[in-house]
This record gives sequence, structure tokens and C-alpha cells, in this order.
Amino acid sequence: MSTNMQRDILVLNLEEQMERSAERQFDKTFADCTDKEAYYVLLDVTNELMRVAEPIVGEKKIYYISMEFLIGKLLSNNLINLRVYDKVNQILRKNGKKLADIEEYEPEPSLGNGGLGRLAACFLDSIATLKLPGEGIGLNYHYGLFKQVFDKNLQNAEKDAWQENKSWLEKTDTTFDVNFGDKKVVSRLYNLYVTGYDSGINKLRLFDIETVDEKLVKKGINFDKTKIEKNLTLFLYPDDSDEAGNLLRIYQEYFLVSNAAQLILHEMKERQYDLHKLYDHAVIQINDTHPTMIIPELIRILVEEKAFSMDDAIDVVSKTCAYTNHTILAEALETWPLSYLEKVVPQLVPYIKELDKRIRAKVKNSKVQIIDKEKKVHMAFIDIHYGFSVNGVAAIHTDILKNTELNDFYKLYPEKFNNKTNGITFRRWLLSCNHPLADLIADTIGDGYKKDATRLEELLEHENDEGFLDRLDSIKQEKKKELAAYLEKHEGVKVDPTSIYDIQVKRLHEYKRQQMNALYIIHKYLEIKSGKKPVRPLTFIFGAKAAPAYVIAKDIIHLLLCLQEIVNNDPDVSPYMKVIFVENYNVTYAEHLIPAADVSEQISLASKEASGTSNMKFMLNGAVTLGTDDGANVEIHDLVGDDNIYIFGIDSDTVIGHYKKADYVSKKYYEKSPVIKEAVDFIVSKQCLKVGKKENLTRLYNELLNKDWFMTLIDLESYIEAKDRIFADYEDRNKWKHMMLVNIAKAGFFSSDRTIMEYNRDIWKLQKAD
Ligand SMILES: *Cc1c(COP(=O)(O)O)cnc(C)c1O
Repeated sequence: MSTNMQRDILVLNLEEQMERSAERQFDKTFADCTDKEAYYVLLDVTNELMRVAEPIVGEKKIYYISMEFLIGKLLSNNLINLRVYDKVNQILRKNGKKLADIEEYEPEPSLGNGGLGRLAACFLDSIATLKLPGEGIGLNYHYGLFKQVFDKNLQNAEKDAWQENKSWLEKTDTTFDVNFGDKKVVSRLYNLYVTGYDSGINKLRLFDIETVDEKLVKKGINFDKTKIEKNLTLFLYPDDSDEAGNLLRIYQEYFLVSNAAQLILHEMKERQYDLHKLYDHAVIQINDTHPTMIIPELIRILVEEKAFSMDDAIDVVSKTCAYTNHTILAEALETWPLSYLEKVVPQLVPYIKELDKRIRAKVKNSKVQIIDKEKKVHMAFIDIHYGFSVNGVAAIHTDILKNTELNDFYKLYPEKFNNKTNGITFRRWLLSCNHPLADLIADTIGDGYKKDATRLEELLEHENDEGFLDRLDSIKQEKKKELAAYLEKHEGVKVDPTSIYDIQVKRLHEYKRQQMNALYIIHKYLEIKSGKKPVRPLTFIFGAKAAPAYVIAKDIIHLLLCLQEIVNNDPDVSPYMKVIFVENYNVTYAEHLIPAADVSEQISLASKEASGTSNMKFMLNGAVTLGTDDGANVEIHDLVGDDNIYIFGIDSDTVIGHYKKADYVSKKYYEKSPVIKEAVDFIVSKQCLKVGKKENLTRLYNELLNKDWFMTLIDLESYIEAKDRIFADYEDRNKWKHMMLVNIAKAGFFSSDRTIMEYNRDIWKLQKAD
């Protein structure tokens, strides 16, 4: 029987399948199942549907290698992509159940960290949707990043035990030997099926080892970092503030690429492809520098096991690998001491030295050498010299790479550099998280936009249609009410759904400048205290994890939690404003927050945010951006025009100029402006110290006054001005509804389907399966 027929029969008999699964698993009728049991029933039947779906095959395949895949919960998304969402909901209704309640029992996989991992997840969706043969390759972390818990206004980290016996993961029989310098481990492959929208199936390949010992984790997320056989796949990005942590990261990275190389070569062998033409059958996209060792590893295998000459091996691998750069922050471009590599992967060191030697023979410029004079290996430089493509992730980011950060490389290889502005999958960030809006759009312009997102522009024909604009507005209102209920349940705080929801959710980092938002909140608090009340209540919502070893980032969280306590408990102020920092921000939380947002905070220091993708999710859901001309904000600005976005602050050239001249002095701005001084001083005021810790607050205060590396104070006054203006404009309801419309209508460009079509057109060159 063809897989399509199998699928159709399954869909036809979905209800019966569910009853059978309920009986088999719980010895109950489906109607009698608890919501939790119903989740396992839906998991079971959905997994079955995916197992019979058509795999996407072709002569050439994209292998997207990434340390992280921030995939989010899968049930709803899979139902939508398999086109059975409505049918399942009908059956649920009949049985007195709601998908939203059932989904609460699905654990969110903890396999990613932030934007880069979420991008990898969106890309897998679009690759499958476009029917391109491809797979993701990553690691199956037992405790993922970490679970954030607040106590006494401080962030604590706990293990995130997300794995369950019944899950989306399929355990396979595939195992590989992975050899390190001082030990050998055996890996095991797990598959996670990736369904495209109305298309076929690709896979996410996740590697693990069976000797992992979860009991190694003691208090919080502390564990013995030297016991590699027991800790290798416990955590994503384990603490790297000491040597053992650095070594563990190298063990993890090599474990990832060794498995990837073996998997890819195994497939080449199975399909009897000529390895001298590897690049005709495989393209490897290296997501940031973590998987860089795939390059020397493949070269090593071809030379040592496949009888390639060094020249041929380097040539073939260079034509197979492409690199995506995600940041210009110097501290994020990995460099490993050669001595560490000698310990963990001695077999790669002669190849890395050979790759370095060839560059030295060719180019005199010491700034492009792979191994520097301190004997540190610059991983990104391996990618740039020995990959065929280097891409940035938004127009301004790629320009900065070409003209500033990687200019020496750009001059060597201008043809390698290209831009691929990031995107998001509209299946998750609209169809799944905002059904009423997706339905309104379909009612207005038809279903076509679900496969061709640029058709959202047809909404502009309705810019004078009051009925349509009112429906848009009432959907936002409905989503705000839902979020208020969700926040009350999950955070125990009441918010006013008629207030303006101003949301900043993203990893906590000084360059993203959550501290600037905090200073605005202090400013507003003091203003209200002095009697100047806002026309409408304001709700400031934050969500962010800080890397456990990033001290100042945790101090910023501390400040915001202190402000939450002060503001929300002050009877003079709390009727007019609230501050809510949600615990453990993740994809699930994002799906509740983003549809309800009025104002999207995208306030990074210009030049520092490579792209950002939450800016796109907010826009698509009708929020208006308050941001700097940075990352993809620049492209949002171009698309919606000056009238539908609020841009403030110094531009990227000015920022780069300040760094070059080293002439930024934050104290100057503090001393010049009473508004800035008052806000900064509040951090160490009696009132703040009463709810907070002196050590943390003083450290943050000093950092802002004496360093402020990401130039918060230079932009604070223009931020306050722009933010007051956006809040005032909210009262012009017609203007606001129109801005919502334009933002949604112009969001089509940011579909990851567009991004993936560009990757394929310019880099991968795969044939679409039919
Ligand atoms: C989209 C997303 C991000 C990336 O947010 P940015 O604002 O672009 O940094 C991070 N975390 C989660 C959970 C996301 O969904």
C-alpha cells in the first residue's frame, strides 16, 4: 500500500485510532481519559501518522548541523502540518476536551538556548515544507539548558528534566564509536520526525550516549565536569568559566561532528555515491562555530580511511561546507587553546595545523591566521577559509561583517560572502499560536498566504475597512485577556487587559539592553509618584534567562525583579503600571506572550544584534516595534516605513566610531542629565536596597556608571522620548489599528520559507522533491 493511502486511512479512522490507543495505554475510553492521558493518546496517533508519511528524498541533501534546536512543543504544530488539526479538535470537542488543556502536559524539549536554536527549528520546518531533502543533526541533552527559578529576586538554575518514556523521540539501532584522545564512547542515534506543512517528512537526528549518569547532578546544575562518559550529553552549554568546562564543550562539539561525519558518510556509502563528488550529494550548513570541527574531521577521515590525497580531501570538503555567522560580539567567536584540542582531539591537530600552514603560505596578514601567536585556534577562521559560503543573518549584519569585523577575509574571498536575512515559520508563529488572527486573515484574503506569505500584502487593500480593523483589534483584545488569565495562573499576578502590553522577551544580555528598559520603568515609577499619571495603565513584561556564569546579566534580572516587587506593591503606582518578569521563558511562553503584545521591545545597541527573530514574530502578530536601527529591525523599518515603527537611538556607524576611538564615557551622560541621574541612582536607593541585595545592585550601578560597554546611557533619553510617544499614540485608536495592519501585511518577507528558498537558490542548490 502506498504511504499516502496508509495515511488517508489513518486520518479517516482517527477517532477509532484514538479509542484503540486509549484502551491499549490506559484501559479506558478516550472520553474517560484525563487530559494528561489524552496527551499520550494524541502523541501516539500523531507519531503513527508521521511514521507512514512520505519521506522527502533526492540526489542531494542539506545537513543542518547545530549545537541547539529550540523546537518547542510539537503536538499542535504537527497536527497543523499534517492537516488534521481541525479534525482532531472536532473529536476532542465531542469528548468534552480542549487541545489547550491537553497541551499543558506536553513537556517542552530543552534542546536549545535562544535565537540561533530557534532559527534552526524554523529552518527544519521550512526545509520540509518546501519539500527539500534535509535533516538537522544535534545532541539529545538530558537536562538541556537549565530551568530558571526565582528566589529572593534572584535567578537560580535547576536541571530541566524534560525527557519522558513516551515521547516524540524514536530510538534507533544506529550506534557509532567516537574516539577522543583519552577515551572512546559509543553513541546512539535518536530520530525526531519533522513534518512540513502539507508535505513530507524529514528528520532531526539527535545523538546521545548510554553511559550518561543523571545522578551526577548535585545541587542546582552542578556536576563533576571531568567525568566525560557520564556527563557528555547532560547539559547544553555547560559552564565554561574554568578549564574543565572548556574541555567538556570541546568533547561535546567533537561528539556532535564525529557522529555527523559518520552518519553522512554512511549514507553516501549506502547510496553508492562517489566520495570525490561528496558535494553533489551533501551540503553541510555549519550553524555558528560550534560544529566547525566537522571540516578537519571529514578531511581526516577522507585522508586516513578513504585514501584521498590531502589536496583532494581539502578540496572536496571545502566544496561541501558552508558557514553561518550569528554574531559580531568578539567574545562569542570561539577560540580554543591548541593544548585543549591536543588533549581532547589529538587526531585533528595535525590537520588543523596543515590548514593553518596553507593559509600562512598564501597570505601574509596575521589577522587571518587560524592559529594565532598565543596558540589559540580561531574556529570561525577555519570555516571561512575552508567553506564555500559565509553568510550573515540580516542585511546590516552582513554589511558589518564585510566592511568591519571580517573585512580582511572579505577582501580575500568576496565571492563567499552573502546575506540571508533570518525568518520564522508562520505555521508556529501565526497558525498555531494565534488561530483567531490566522482565521481572520484567511476569511479576508483566502488561504493562499499559508504557503506564500508575501500574499499577506493583500491585507493592505483593507486599510480603510473599519469592520476589518475592528476585528483585528478585538482579536488582540481577546489575546490580551487570555494572557492575563495565563499570567494569573502561572505567575500569580493580575494584569489589566485594557492596559498597554509592552513586552521584551529574549536572552538576557547587556547588548540587548534590558537594563535600559529597567531605567525607563524607574523613570515612570518616579513620575507617577510625583503625581504625573499615564492616561492608560502600562504593563511591562519581561522573559529572559541569563547564562549562569554571566554575573551582570543576573544582576539585571535581580534589578527587574526588585522593581517588580516595588512597583506592584506600591498602592500609589500599581493601578497605573505593573512589572512582570515571567519565570523560565521558553518557546511555550513565547507562544502565549507574542500574540498579546502591543509594543515589541527591540532595543539592542545598534550594530550588536545580528538579526533578531522575535522582532518578526511580534510584527506578524500585530505588535508595533519600538527599536533601534539594528539587525532585522532595519528591514522591518524599510518595509513598514517611518509611520509604522518607532526608531530611536544612535546608529551603527556612530556606535562603531565610538568603539574605534574608545571615547564613550557613560558618566558624562549621567552627570549631564538629571533624568538619567535620578533613574541610575534609584538602583542603589534605600527603597531598592530594602528588597534587593546590596552586592548585586551596587555592582550593576558601578557597571553602568564606569563602563556601560553597550552604551545604555547615551540612548536613554531618546528611548524615554520614543516610548512616551508610542504610548501616547496608542490612544489614537484608528492610527494604532492601521499600524497593526501594516505590520502584519508587511511581515511576509520574514517567513523562513523565503529564507530557505534563498539558502537553496544561492548555497545548497537542492532539487525540490515532487
Ligand atoms: C524567537 C525566540 C528567541 C529569539 O529572540 P530574539 O529577541 O530574536 O533574541 C529566543 N527565545 C525564544 C524562546 C524564542 O522563541
